[in-house]
Order: sequence, then structure tokens, then C-alpha cells
Amino acid sequence: MLQVFPPGDDRQKVRLHRYFMAVACYVLWVGLGLGMYLAGLLDVPSRMLVPILAGVCVTNLYFYVFIRSGLNRHFKDPSLTFSQIIVAMSWILVLMFAAADSRSILLSVYVMSLLFGVFQLGRKDFMLLAGFGMVGYLALVGVDFAFFRERMDLRTEILRGSVLGGTLLWAAIFGSHVSGLRNKLRGKNNELREALEVVHHAARHDHLTQAYNRRYVMQTMKAEKARADRTRRPFSVVILDIDHFKIINDRYGHLAGDRVLMAFSERTKGTLRGMDFVGTDGVRTFGRYGGEEFIVLLPEAELGGAYQCAERIRYVTEDEPFDDVFTVTVSSGVAEYRLGESIEDTLRRADAALYRAKDNGRNCVVADDTPTSGIYSLLSEDDISPNVVVGQFGS
Ligand code: GH3
Ligand code: MG
Ligand code: MG
Repeated sequence: MLQVFPPGDDRQKVRLHRYFMAVACYVLWVGLGLGMYLAGLLDVPSRMLVPILAGVCVTNLYFYVFIRSGLNRHFKDPSLTFSQIIVAMSWILVLMFAAADSRSILLSVYVMSLLFGVFQLGRKDFMLLAGFGMVGYLALVGVDFAFFRERMDLRTEILRGSVLGGTLLWAAIFGSHVSGLRNKLRGKNNELREALEVVHHAARHDHLTQAYNRRYVMQTMKAEKARADRTRRPFSVVILDIDHFKIINDRYGHLAGDRVLMAFSERTKGTLRGMDFVGTDGVRTFGRYGGEEFIVLLPEAELGGAYQCAERIRYVTEDEPFDDVFTVTVSSGVAEYRLGESIEDTLRRADAALYRAKDNGRNCVVADDTPTSGIYSLLSEDDISPNVVVGQFGS
């Protein structure tokens, strides 16, 4: 079934809302006009009334189809405000021509149509429309002068024309002022939105490495724990600590240390993106835990998967020097969340495993070795590098 508004396209919806406002305006005036006509107050020849009404309906239907089908998007102003106003003014001109005696009443509607421009138009468009309105009206008077001079009263025409000119000019100035205010407001809104995005980004990310910050990782971990408690699906954490990082700072300076932190973060993000074997759904969260320590949160990952992930990061870290100069290694502690424990407990176990990795000579991964399921049965010999310290599972 045809939907009046296009689903999911907010901009087109706004355009169609405005279009229907214009239609409502037409309905109001056409209804009022018909009422006056039927009461004998509006003097329009009936042979002209029907074509005018039909014309109004057809042109408006055309605008609806144009906007609803999306053809309007090809135009500089997809709201088609300018052309809609031109068409409205043209119909009022035709009606004014037909209803010569009631012309003065129709002039107010003529000016009113211009005000629809406040939604969209700038000063230049308003002036063009006011010019069109004036020229159209003068043409109408010219036709009257040429063919129906006997029904004209020059004094009235001059007065009417002058008042119309002034009113059109005022409407154009007023309209462009309101439209200018709207544009300023829109600009401010955009600035505010951009500022909010910056704040939102800063609240979640670490300034130096652009990895998530500790606060965000902790928040995500809380949500992950709630999900795991509800669904009984696993998740794991890996805490990574760059080995002997102080030496890089001492030897090459703090700025070089910063560059290594950034490069490590980038490379690890890339590694995480490239891994399909850890978790099936859920987003892996990588963040800076503090200093030269980082943390990876792995939804849907059991200890074995998390271990492989940490091992992969360890491997790609030592594989190639950062900035072609700094050969760096990393140690990690891995822990899988256990139902019911606090996230602090999970982190404490991962941290303890990391300490053991450091004690065992660094550049290695240690999985939390307190009793749990026999996860290492999942790992083949090839998965375990000589540098990896394998935790003991089972009692
Ligand atoms: P280990 O192998 O035991 O982890 O040794 P380490 O030297 O990496 O560890 P330690 O905790 O002794 O030193 C960490 C250093 O990281 C000390 C600190 O100055 C440095 N650091 C912390 N944050 C930053 C930072 O943002 N930029 C730089 N360049 N260095 C940092
Ligand atoms: Mg450290
Ligand atoms: Mg360190």
C-alpha cells in the first residue's frame, strides 16, 4: 500500500509536511472562495472556476508526486519552495483576472503565499518572488487596460498597485529576516551538535592513543557482565603491559615513548579487527588501562580464545619494530569472567596473571591458572609459542 510519507527519510518527511501545510492553506482559501461564490459574493464566471480548481489540484498533485518519488532531490532546493510559491501566485493571478471585481480581497492571499518562503528561502529569492508578484500584477492590470478599459478605475488601480508593491516588499524583507534567523539557529545547532560529538568522543577515548579510555572500558565491562549473568555466555579480558617501557622513555625521550604507545595502539586495533576466531558476535573493546597498560574486552570469548588473541597481539608486537626503530615486546594476563564474581575480581585475576608473565621473563602470555574448565584441551601445540607460559588447569 502507498505510504503518504517515505519511510525512514526524515528530510523528505519534513518537505512533505511543509507541502501539506501549503495544501491546507489551499483547502482553506478554496473552501472560503467556493462558499463566497455560492453565496453570490464572489464574482467569477463559472466557465473559468472549474478549470482553475482543476488546475490547482493537478499542479499540487504534481508537486506531491515529485517529492514523494524523490525526483526533487536532483534540484538545488529539494523542498521546491520557490516553484511552489510561484505556482500559487500564478493561480491567484489567474483567479484575480477572472474575478476582476473581487480583486482587492484576493490580494491578501497573494501576499500570504510569499510567507511560505520563511522555511527555506534567502533574501535574493524573496526579492525575486516579490518582483514576480509585482510584475504579474502589473501584467494583469496591463491586460485589463488593453482589453477591458471600460471596467477600470485608474485611481483604484494606482492605489491598489502601490499598496500591493509596499506589502510585497515588506513581506519579502520580513520573510528574509525570519529566514536569516532560522539559518543562524540552524548554524548554532550544527555547532552544538559538533561540539557534543567532540565531548562525546573525548569522554570515551584516550587523548594520546585514541583507544577507548579506562572509564569507557569499565562501563562496557559492567554491561558485558550483566549480559553474561543473564545469558550465561562467556567473556574474557586481557591486560597488556609493554615490557621495559621506561627504557624507551629514558633512552629516546618521552615523545618517542608517546609515539610507541600510539603505534602499539594502532597495531593492536588492527590485529583485533583482523581476528575472527575470538567471539562470534559482540564488539571487542580495546582501551588504555593507564600508562603503558592496555586492556582488551572480548565478548563471547572463553579463556582459550582470549589466550589466542593475546598471543596474536604479543606476536605482532615483537614481529616488527615500531617506527622502524623501536623493538618492543608485550606481556599479558588473561582471565575469563566467572559467573557471579565482580568485575574487579576478574581484573584482579588477569592482573595476577600479568605479574606472572613479567616474572616469567616477559614477552609472554599467562592465562589465569586458578581452577576452571579444561580450556587448554581446545589448544593445539602450534597455538602455544615457546614464550607462552601455560597456566595449570584443574587441581
Ligand atoms: P615492565 O616491563 O615491568 O612493565 O617495565 P616498564 O618499564 O614498562 O614499567 P614501569 O612501570 O617501570 O614504567 C612504565 C613507564 O611508562 C613509566 C612512565 O613514565 C611511562 N609512561 C606512563 N605513561 C606514559 C605516557 O603517556 N607517555 C610516555 N612516553 N610514557 C609513559
Ligand atoms: Mg606497567
Ligand atoms: Mg611495562
